[in-house]
Amino acid sequence: MSLAPDAHLLIIGAGLAGYYTARQMRTQGHTGPITVLGAEAHPAYDRPALSKAYLCGTTDLCDLYLDDPADPLDVRWVRSDAVVGLSTEPLGVRTASGTFYLGDAVVIATGAEARRLGGHAIRCVEDAAALRAAPLAGARVAVIGGGFLALETAATCTTRGAGSVTVIAGEELPGLRRLGQPVAQALHRLHEQHGVRFLGAARALSVTPAGHAEHPEHAEHPGSPEHVITLSDGRRIEADVVISAVGAVPATAWLTRSALALDPETQAVLTDDTGFTGIPGIWAAGDCALWAAQRTGLRPVGHWQETVDQAQALASAMLGGVPSPMQEPYLWSDQHHVTIQAAGMLALADEVQVLAGSIEAGDLLVSYLREGTEIGILGMNRLREVVRWRRARRIRPAALAA
Ligand SMILES: Cc1cc2nc3c(=O)[nH]c(=O)nc-3n(C[C@H](O)[C@H](O)[C@H](O)COP(=O)(O)OP(=O)(O)OC[C@H]3O[C@@H](n4cnc5c(N)ncnc54)[C@H](O)[C@@H]3O)c2cc1C
Repeated sequence: MSLAPDAHLLIIGAGLAGYYTARQMRTQGHTGPITVLGAEAHPAYDRPALSKAYLCGTTDLCDLYLDDPADPLDVRWVRSDAVVGLSTEPLGVRTASGTFYLGDAVVIATGAEARRLGGHAIRCVEDAAALRAAPLAGARVAVIGGGFLALETAATCTTRGAGSVTVIAGEELPGLRRLGQPVAQALHRLHEQHGVRFLGAARALSVTPAGHAEHPEHAEHPGSPEHVITLSDGRRIEADVVISAVGAVPATAWLTRSALALDPETQAVLTDDTGFTGIPGIWAAGDCALWAAQRTGLRPVGHWQETVDQAQALASAMLGGVPSPMQEPYLWSDQHHVTIQAAGMLALADEVQVLAGSIEAGDLLVSYLREGTEIGILGMNRLREVVRWRRARRIRPAALAA
């Protein structure tokens, strides 16, 4: 049933999904009141720059605000008041301050929280500000994680003048499992050219304050480090600054006692492919949610474009409009002046082919195939080619959606 034009919509979480859901609801004609309840003290802001320009010190928080001062959203923003409980009868939410908000519909958009192994993590602006303020120049930096966030952060630390940057990616080459051999080799080479060192397949088991390490004599570096990282192969790595970029968990702890179905593995809110949870009036989008197509691997999880596309699809479903087809999945990352863009369903590929460029030059254009059919593309500084590919494939082939 579609939302009445004067219905009061509660959006929980003032991040990307919350902001774009509100924006899409207005764009698609909803005239009723919208209240966006956020745990953070800041206006809604964009996160990708936190590991890039913000960490570098070339962008400030106010540059990241999502709302357009020239066309501000007509919504009520409530800040610094985390939602702590969901009620289905009557429909509404309770916040940490004890306030109960009644609504005709609720969109859950609480995002995710960084997994923290130790040292710094980067999920919110406070995390990034703490790392930005850390004395990185000349420091021995260790980055735990092999995903784009880890690699971006490693790249930024080299720009900030770190004495050494070591990445503990947990696989022989960064991104090998997800992106395939050629891209993983190219990423490895790109980072090594900028002085980043990788530690192979070893995984980080723990991060301890240096004074507490059991065998400091085995440490790789001299000096007085802040931390010791113990690896799965027994090595101990000393570091002045440790950054963990080892994934995020959906911010749904406040929902564990609710009627909503949560994914047993990730605790994400389970929905269909419009964001509907199955409970009348309750929807979910962004990093806190797992849409049906994400469960089957057809769509990626935890990316900017996916969140924005979900907000659009969810708004049209709530308003009873014709759902526009979701675009091909898309993500990007910036590392050492190389923009990496990937589109399509890379996770489903069984073959990777290099179309152009070379590992040495770091300008690869790579095709991802499944049973001989191209289902994805990745380019390193190949903006034009990736844009063209995306334009040509606005709608996902029906055969793969089945
Ligand atoms: C450092 C960083 C770099 C990134 N770089 C890229 C990139 O280069 N490319 C890319 O494609 N993607 C990138 N991403 C991913 C992208 O930013 C996320 O997918 C996107 O932010 C998800 O939006 P969201 O609204 O679901 O979650 P968030 O943006 O995390 O917003 C959720 C909001 O909900 C609030 N909240 C949580 N719990 C509650 C509660 N109980 N009550 C009220 N409010 C609550 C949070 O405080 C937060 O403000 C990056 C993410 C990070 C963290």
